[in-house]
Amino acid sequence: MPSTSTTNRRSFLARGAALAAGPAIATVVGGALAEPAAADTLPDYAPVPPSALGPAVNEQGYYVGRVERNLYWVTDGTYQAAFLTTRNGVVLFDAPPTIGHNLQRAIDQIAADNGVSNKVTHIVYSHHHADHLGASSLFGKNVTRIGHEETRALLLRDNDPTRPVPDITFKTHRTLNVGGERIDLAWHGTNHSPDNIYIHFPDHDTLMLVDINLPGWVPFDSFNLNEDIPGSIAAPAKAMAYPWTHFIGGHMGRLGTRDDMVVYQQYVTDLIDNIKQALVTIDPTPFFTKYGNNSWAAVKEYQAAQVDYAAAPVIEKYTGVLAAADVYTASTTFIILESIRLDLGFGSQIHP
Ligand SMILES: [Zn+2]
Repeated sequence: MPSTSTTNRRSFLARGAALAAGPAIATVVGGALAEPAAADTLPDYAPVPPSALGPAVNEQGYYVGRVERNLYWVTDGTYQAAFLTTRNGVVLFDAPPTIGHNLQRAIDQIAADNGVSNKVTHIVYSHHHADHLGASSLFGKNVTRIGHEETRALLLRDNDPTRPVPDITFKTHRTLNVGGERIDLAWHGTNHSPDNIYIHFPDHDTLMLVDINLPGWVPFDSFNLNEDIPGSIAAPAKAMAYPWTHFIGGHMGRLGTRDDMVVYQQYVTDLIDNIKQALVTIDPTPFFTKYGNNSWAAVKEYQAAQVDYAAAPVIEKYTGVLAAADVYTASTTFIILESIRLDLGFGSQIHP
């Protein structure tokens, strides 16, 4: 049975709570702060292509499925985690708070079906962000947590009790052998965050790399909020250098394939090509003529015109191919445009 409308509403609220700032959700719950937006006045967007969607979640709001053999993935439709059942217990990969207690429910379900231990003994952290780790503390203190050394440093900085720091850290490579299963962890430079790692399952034909490619969807707002833009643009090629068939991207409702990565790389390449053209094509004169000594107004409108020039053909090309192309392509274009200008120096001119 599909979810009841009550479950759907609860799941919408949970997702809203995860994404929105406090006051917004307080408005939904209490109705006291601001007039809630009327649904029929909100803007329309292109429909989500069926290819972007995954399996339906159950009554509790999650789906758990096999990736390959004893490697499983779990999703709430927006976030993803993975786990490996071994003869000595379970290795969990990330613990998104939106999935929360459903992580153990999913593990219990699979462990019962297969007659194996449901005890989580290890948690591997993809990177330090709370939206992927905030349920880590649910698994208590007697769990070995593994992450990059920078993940440890950032979590010590953040001092968030929901994300206990890793007990085991590494700098470039670390192979884990747990209960006869092999997991290869690697850090190949900064990308989405300074500490985001590649989690390779050589015996399961799978790569987990979080917050880079969200299979079936364009990146979240402003290019996934990536901290290192050139590093993030380079990450898909590093991912493709590994042998794998199944991809766990950490987001949305389905697993990815190598074809998904190719489409995503082309999307970013198309944006870069168009941005470079925009930087040399749009004439700044009218913007500075109009706004005079208000330099920020001129720059804002000039760059908005560049973004529109670069993004419009990409939105048109990928609508129906990648979900939400019309929602977030413009903000991603702006971030990549700034990186091309500031990191690569493209279009920068020396005063004569
Ligand atoms: Zn992140």
